[in-house]
Amino acid sequence: MESKRRIVVKVGTSTLTHPNGRTNLREMERLVRVISDIMNGGTQVALVTSGAIGIGVGKLGLKERPKDTPGKQAAATVGQCELMFMYDKMFSEYGHKVGQLLITREDVEDEKRHANLIACFDRLFEMGVLPVINENDAVAVEEIVYGDNDSLSAIVARLVKADTLFILSDIDALYDADPRRNPQARRVPRVSEITPELRAACAGAGSGLGVGGMETKLHAAEIAREGGISTVIINGTPPDNLYSALEGADIGTVFEGGSHA
Ligand code: GLU
Repeated sequence: MESKRRIVVKVGTSTLTHPNGRTNLREMERLVRVISDIMNGGTQVALVTSGAIGIGVGKLGLKERPKDTPGKQAAATVGQCELMFMYDKMFSEYGHKVGQLLITREDVEDEKRHANLIACFDRLFEMGVLPVINENDAVAVEEIVYGDNDSLSAIVARLVKADTLFILSDIDALYDADPRRNPQARRVPRVSEITPELRAACAGAGSGLGVGGMETKLHAAEIAREGGISTVIINGTPPDNLYSALEGADIGTVFEGGSHA
């Protein structure tokens, strides 16, 4: 039997929400349509999604993202429901079924739970269900979570043995300097090795309502690379960029997966 192409797509809070935290329906609908179409073409997809806390903040009408852990947990429980409700509704319109997985680091590191998770993913793919993954923010105390969904997406890519991880970001690519401060900054199209210089260039380059900046994306690319998986960072707006990236267009930044089998 021919093995199917399998990818992980990670989408961040800044793509899914307006700056006030309310759901950005236009972007979310476009993303769902693109992923549905890619699945229709025979590619298996797992979606790692942020947005629980951000959407919870919007739904609860909070003035800002809570800083304390119970506040974040509470916002996430409310936002996660809304998030999954929207995904379920939108993917259903295109004939696709979604399954929710909320995981923590402990679930991945514990041998038994790790095996259980893989078995669950395998079954979902067999059933043609799109696994939608977020960190289990309701129990998210620092010791047991990854803390950012960039790292989580790379862990998921390894769990499901994906070919490629696509991280949809609110910036176009990795640059050799911060493009928001330095107009001379140049896009880095391809990275074959993560050097200390690259790490230094990415330090502190953050964005919007989410928690991940370029630093966490670099870290994610490193985790994926250790599993022999390449990572592509592209702008999530418009989500159609995913088509181009899948076709190998010269957009974003490709981190080569290394030789690990
Ligand atoms: N798990 C968090 C949420 O859904 C997001 C973490 C991140 O932005 O990377 O709100």
